[in-house]
Amino acid sequence: MLAGVVVGIKDVICYKGHAVSAASRILEGFESLYNATAVERLLEAGAIIIGRLNCDEFAMGSTNENSAYGPTLNALDETRVPGGSSGGSAVAVQAGLCHVSLGSDTGGSVRQPADFCGIVGLKPSYGRISRHGLLAYASSFDQIGIFGSNIADVAKVLQVIAGPDAYDSTASQSGVPEYQLSTDLHNKKRKFAYLRDALHHEGLDPEMRGGFESFFEQLKAEGHTVEAVDFEYLDFVVAAYYVLTTAEASSNLSRYDGVKYGYRTPEQGLDLSDFYRKSRSEGFGKEVKRRILLGTFVLSAGYYDAYFTKAQQVRRLVVEKMQQILQAYDAILLPTVPATAFKIGEKTDDPIAMYLADIYTVLANLTGVPAISVPLTRHSNGMPYGLQIITKELDEQNLLEIAETVL
Ligand code: GLN
Repeated sequence: MLAGVVVGIKDVICYKGHAVSAASRILEGFESLYNATAVERLLEAGAIIIGRLNCDEFAMGSTNENSAYGPTLNALDETRVPGGSSGGSAVAVQAGLCHVSLGSDTGGSVRQPADFCGIVGLKPSYGRISRHGLLAYASSFDQIGIFGSNIADVAKVLQVIAGPDAYDSTASQSGVPEYQLSTDLHNKKRKFAYLRDALHHEGLDPEMRGGFESFFEQLKAEGHTVEAVDFEYLDFVVAAYYVLTTAEASSNLSRYDGVKYGYRTPEQGLDLSDFYRKSRSEGFGKEVKRRILLGTFVLSAGYYDAYFTKAQQVRRLVVEKMQQILQAYDAILLPTVPATAFKIGEKTDDPIAMYLADIYTVLANLTGVPAISVPLTRHSNGMPYGLQIITKELDEQNLLEIAETVL
């Protein structure tokens, strides 16, 4: 089904006998011992995997600047970032180096770089694609996603790699339908919601706000329903996302101890805890260390309830609210990112500002629903920006159909 299709994979996905490093020094010299289920299925379908693609270290970042290999550049404007963390996967498709590529999306890492690079990026429902062989960042959020230059390519790859997997008990047991992108659907009238609080958020670029407003008017003129709904939790989603993901990351990354995988400190004669400390201090980059510390802090006995439990409660409220909206509407439409691609170095000194730019993407990961970013138009600065579409859990069919027909 994918015979001859050229695919690139993010450097967090295992391909047997090939290096995988999560763009981190700590995995220096490590080779995958098995294929990720997604890779196995691609190979069985006849795809050609051309190589691994740069990303932010352990998929932590929004610009691809946190990589031990250095940054990836946006091929449309090399003074700008391609987005992250799957920046290399986005640029490989943007620049025509491969037909499609795989990334991972924990809080936007497929949709955000797709938006910055002017291509299509799909994050399927949590569990739609097995995580077996995906290096873990935050296990209850992580999902493999797909980049392509059109919806049909992305749908084909999803068809091949989705579905239950004995190696991942969190993979959905639901069967995968035949994804259809029939052109008869162009006349179907839909009911869309947009989040009033998202469109009027102060962080959203005003020109982009105007672009979304006129797109919504255009949809109405075509006979679709587009209505504003309230979403009172928007200001809490980024905080909840960073508390929960750093907590999970601090646990997931404890396995990189200098003994089992990759890098170990060359210093001799250390006792065991100094050996761990040195190997990890030398092997991990700054952002990864920041997140391990934050995650360890929010899980610590004195602060667990104040941060971790609270964030879980926010997650529950957000899930319920999203379900309520998606019961009443076919899809939610919102921006993917509040701004176009940043200049290289623009946000590196201000991690909080960088985190806040994840405001529109983390929603789908907190709730497990599928979401896609499709190019909407170009900003007057010359850079593209995308529309994000969200549908009900496991309803990728509707998501792909809407993405194919409304734009
Ligand atoms: N920008 C987000 C973060 O830094 C998203 C990362 C991701 O989806 N892997 O956590």
